[in-house]
Amino acid sequence: MKIPVKSVTSPKKFIIGKGLLANLNEYIKDLGDHAYVICDEFILDRAKEEAGRSIEEGGGKATFEKFNYECTQEEIDRNRRLAREAGANVIVGIGGGKTLDTAKSTAYYEKLPVVIFPTIASTDAPCTALAVIYKESGAFDRYLFLPSNPDVVLADTEILAAAPVRFFVAGIGDALATYFEARACYQANGDNLVLMKPSVTGLAIARTCYETVLENGVKAVEAVKQKVPTRAVQDTIEATIYMSGVGAEAGGLAAAHAIHNGMTAVPALHKAQHGEKVTFGLLAQLVLENAPKEELETVIHFIKAVGLPLTLKDLGVEEFVEAEWRKVAEDACAEGDTMGNMPFPVTPDDVYNAIVAANAIAESYHD
Ligand SMILES: [Zn+2]
Repeated sequence: MKIPVKSVTSPKKFIIGKGLLANLNEYIKDLGDHAYVICDEFILDRAKEEAGRSIEEGGGKATFEKFNYECTQEEIDRNRRLAREAGANVIVGIGGGKTLDTAKSTAYYEKLPVVIFPTIASTDAPCTALAVIYKESGAFDRYLFLPSNPDVVLADTEILAAAPVRFFVAGIGDALATYFEARACYQANGDNLVLMKPSVTGLAIARTCYETVLENGVKAVEAVKQKVPTRAVQDTIEATIYMSGVGAEAGGLAAAHAIHNGMTAVPALHKAQHGEKVTFGLLAQLVLENAPKEELETVIHFIKAVGLPLTLKDLGVEEFVEAEWRKVAEDACAEGDTMGNMPFPVTPDDVYNAIVAANAIAESYHD
């Protein structure tokens, strides 16, 4: 019998706590003494002030550049050029998922270490060895599989708790699906995100991720509405940023993310967050699996309690166009997508039916 090759891959360091931005040099100084910082516009001045001072006081140099809103090949190439011209030896990304993916990609192509500083906890992208590249039009272009995870991921709970609550909640949606996808992939002995077999550790992290958001999610959302970083906020961020990313990478994705990927083609969903669409993808996955009623209800009640969109209408779909959703189902089953990690064969018809049923079930639980 051939023994499957399994994996656990993770950032070298994950640091979570308050006041990390003003102490940035502490976490980058062993990697380089000239940081090229790709930064979201909203926090650029503050980053220059706080992180810039930290680096200068530590005897290093920092070059700041505003991120141009989309992680495209053009934007990566632009930052590579600027980082090289500056003579930087460490790349830092401060901002949302697209900014971080641009930083990871720039560092990869320039063969430099990368420090990741998320300002919103909306996805599990920060910790993964993956970047999602988009076309100039905003449409999905391709995945860039990186040979290693970020060197350091810094989760500043004050900054993350001050972000709009919708992003924080969307991150909980992305984290909610992690366990169910890892469980399916483990059963199927499918491929995880680094194209090895799901490890026991990956599944365990994914399960702890689910337990952590169930326990802390509602408490954390209420605290974030007040912009205060409580212990529940910190534990939730550890789940949404670290456990969700590492759990998915080692445990694998399945139907929920495959359906999400199909949903990106629906015009009415263009304003929906990644984690919001993944949440609906999870409901459809649970229908595909015919998950126990108790489990389905736990998930549905939690979705409502944290304020995630439950139905397609909540997600912005005013009119259900069958042809659009047949296409979603078709795309979700595309060769190489993670639908292949389900422990049973799944056809586009199965997915379409699961979407229709999941939405009807969601409607039946709607207030
Ligand atoms: Zn995700």
